[in-house]
Amino acid sequence: MELVKDKDYFVLTTNVDHQFQLAGFDKKRLFYTQGDYGLWQCSKACHDKTYDNEDVVRQMVAEQKDMKIPTELVPKCPVCGAPMTMNLRCDNSFVQDDGWYAASNRYDEFILCHKELHILFLELGVGANTPVIIKYPFWKMTAKNPQAVYVCINKQEAYAPREIVDSALCIESDISEILKDIVSD
Ligand SMILES: [Zn+2]
Repeated sequence: MELVKDKDYFVLTTNVDHQFQLAGFDKKRLFYTQGDYGLWQCSKACHDKTYDNEDVVRQMVAEQKDMKIPTELVPKCPVCGAPMTMNLRCDNSFVQDDGWYAASNRYDEFILCHKELHILFLELGVGANTPVIIKYPFWKMTAKNPQAVYVCINKQEAYAPREIVDSALCIESDISEILKDIVSD
């Protein structure tokens, strides 16, 4: 957060652990493409809506005994009555609600507005599981924009294709160490 507080930034993430929100990142500058532990959806995906679950989860934690919670706290879909589940892209019942589409649009807009500007594509720890969401688009956009810079920090897999070799910096190292160094400079 410290690094981007004065910057025009946008975060695209495949993480679902809600950490960006907890760290104070502006929700409007975040697109959690693969879902969010902080949201529930109907397990049958009967309707396209997600629900903030923080209050209920906190209540569950407070009232649990022997790893069990009171039956009335088991979340049920308000539409069809099926159990609720976390909003994660783990099968094809993933619900993309209005919030998801709004974030997706804001990301597209951000990319469009900065298309020909000096922009840093900072890729942190993206593995080979879902390169089509962050890694490949970042490479492509860097290749198209002579003012773009691609930086990849990854402990094991810091690399970039030959096409963008002049605009790329790959650092094979621990992300938290590098970020700490930058903040303290
Ligand atoms: Zn339902």
